[in-house]
Amino acid sequence: MNYNPAHPCPQGTGTPVAFTPGDVPRRYPDVVRRLAVLVPLFGIQAARVEPVPRMTLKLVGRWRHRVMELAEAGLPGMAGDDPKVWKARKYALDCLPAFAIVPQRTRCCRLREVCPFCWAREVRETWLKIDKAFFAPTGGKGPSAYDLVEVGRDMSLSPLVNRDRHGRVLPDDQKIEALPEVFALWAAKRRSHVAEIEGLLASFQTIHIGFEDGKWRFGRRSILLIDHRAVPYEPSDRAALRYFHRSQLPNRRAVLLAVARACRYPTFLLRGDAGLVVRYLAARKGRKLSAMTGKFRNGKAGAVIPDPTPHT
Ligand SMILES: [Zn+2]
Repeated sequence: MNYNPAHPCPQGTGTPVAFTPGDVPRRYPDVVRRLAVLVPLFGIQAARVEPVPRMTLKLVGRWRHRVMELAEAGLPGMAGDDPKVWKARKYALDCLPAFAIVPQRTRCCRLREVCPFCWAREVRETWLKIDKAFFAPTGGKGPSAYDLVEVGRDMSLSPLVNRDRHGRVLPDDQKIEALPEVFALWAAKRRSHVAEIEGLLASFQTIHIGFEDGKWRFGRRSILLIDHRAVPYEPSDRAALRYFHRSQLPNRRAVLLAVARACRYPTFLLRGDAGLVVRYLAARKGRKLSAMTGKFRNGKAGAVIPDPTPHT
């Protein structure tokens, strides 16, 4: 098979939509998406508004290219020639861009685990819930009445391992994919990771995956909302952490930056070997790799708390 993004379907039924990104919205929910997705991909200049339309267009092209590479690499639901698959590819290719407003109306592809635009939309949803929990009591005016803790842990993993999620060593030098095992372990253990934290009122835990030097980088990221009267949280393995930040009574910008850091788009999804991405997606299939507890779960996000000022 030889896929071409300009002709996703063998019959040539779908020419991708020509998007024309225009205005860049600059409120908090827009800033958090840019910081979480565009900055990892394009660098810190994506924090400014001016280059965003150009970057959005470039990202559309890159994403389209990746969709076809994933199809070529055999991603289930994307690879093959039957009409259902053509349609799925077409949706992915024409996924509604985030970051800048486009006059073209297309749908979201909903491939949230890999599509940078759908990833960005999910970051927004996550931020809405977390921002609301921190700032609803004060209506977004002034600092939060709670403390914020951010924790990032990383570990390296060989892609194939000889030990399963229960810690059993496999017989006869047998090797299995590492990611499904660590994902299952994370899901089983994540509650215990935050169970002992004094004054904990809400937690958001998620996974960040990267690939470097032939190994997966498996990152656990947490955002904690803690009663400010509690004894300040100090993890026992602090020296080994990738990052640890504790903000007493943080402002909205601090919480926004914490969400952008925890929900950073893994750049290997667009730039890494497509076969690896297919393995990653197979490993997380049907599994949610983020979870919220306590005040972060208090219903749907509802109305956005207004921004105090526009942002550049
Ligand atoms: Zn999408």
